[in-house]
Amino acid sequence: MDKSVLSKLASLGCSIFKDELLSKRCSFKIGGPADYFIEISNEEALSLFLKNIGNDDFYVLGGGTNVLFSDGGYRGIVISLTGKFKKIVVSGEEIFCGGGALLSNVLNTAVKNNLIGLEFVSGIPGSVGGAVCGNAGLRDKWIDSVIKTIGVYRDAKRVLVKRKQIAFSYRKSNLESSIISDVCFSLKKTVENDSLAMAFKSMQKRLKTQPLNFPTAGSVFKNPEGHSAGKLIEEAGLKGVRVGGAQISAIHGNFIVNTGMASAKNVLTLIGLIEEKIHKRFNIKLEMEIKIIK
Ligand SMILES: Cc1cc2nc3c(=O)[nH]c(=O)nc-3n(C[C@H](O)[C@H](O)[C@H](O)COP(=O)(O)OP(=O)(O)OC[C@H]3O[C@@H](n4cnc5c(N)ncnc54)[C@H](O)[C@@H]3O)c2cc1C
Repeated sequence: MDKSVLSKLASLGCSIFKDELLSKRCSFKIGGPADYFIEISNEEALSLFLKNIGNDDFYVLGGGTNVLFSDGGYRGIVISLTGKFKKIVVSGEEIFCGGGALLSNVLNTAVKNNLIGLEFVSGIPGSVGGAVCGNAGLRDKWIDSVIKTIGVYRDAKRVLVKRKQIAFSYRKSNLESSIISDVCFSLKKTVENDSLAMAFKSMQKRLKTQPLNFPTAGSVFKNPEGHSAGKLIEEAGLKGVRVGGAQISAIHGNFIVNTGMASAKNVLTLIGLIEEKIHKRFNIKLEMEIKIIK
């Protein structure tokens, strides 16, 4: 990207990092450098960036909790939404928030305002943009169920789309090539403390069943129809299997943990091993939930 555009972005309040290690920017703590990492803090800067991106490759990163970057890093520009894109505003039974807002902050705001509907996201790390892009949630409850509208950037301009205009399915949406700048959630007023109790219960379950003391990117595979990926991996005897610094969690078969010095190559080798074993043993083809970025 042209140096003059980079300095204009800086003057608009963006932070620009050259050769930024992506291991610092994701929950797996794995990944080489991106040519540039730009924290974009307002709509004017986002438009300017998109108008001037030219032929450079770019990738929009949220909290980095569902991605595996390669050891070689990313040849192009990784952007994340900060500043004004982190705002959260309550209006009646609706919460408007920026795509860069933390999902946990949105949930806290809902709880404080006795708004119910989002408590199932308790314990899901990352940003609103990442959650909406991947339709985050639990097995039977997904975030699209509480969305009213989404602001997306197309051709460097913000367009407001209704939930019905987006194709959502299990851990999937057709927003992967858009930039989600803001989201409006439609919730319901409840009796005091109801939403807090529900969020707390959901978090307690997570603490018992997930390896939260190691860097991970959450569930590696989607649950195949009628099955639990974690159970299949456990039944195949793969829990605890290790390649280099990467290990299939002994607590939850569908989590790969970075025990310290795991490389992306270690994780990909484990993923290949799991896919092969599960296919051989159950004739099931597992589908990735985490995004592998090359
Ligand atoms: C311990 C742990 C537990 C987890 N539990 C769950 C769970 O219960 N349920 C669940 O669904 N997930 C879970 N996850 C996975 C992950 O937290 C979610 O998928 C989360 O919603 C990803 O958000 P993110 O901001 O980190 O996205 P990222 O990992 O940064 O990105 C994920 C995808 O979203 C895209 N994206 C990010 N921001 C934007 C944006 N503003 N506009 C457009 N696209 C964007 C990226 O390009 C990428 O394709 C878990 C992860 C961990 C580490």
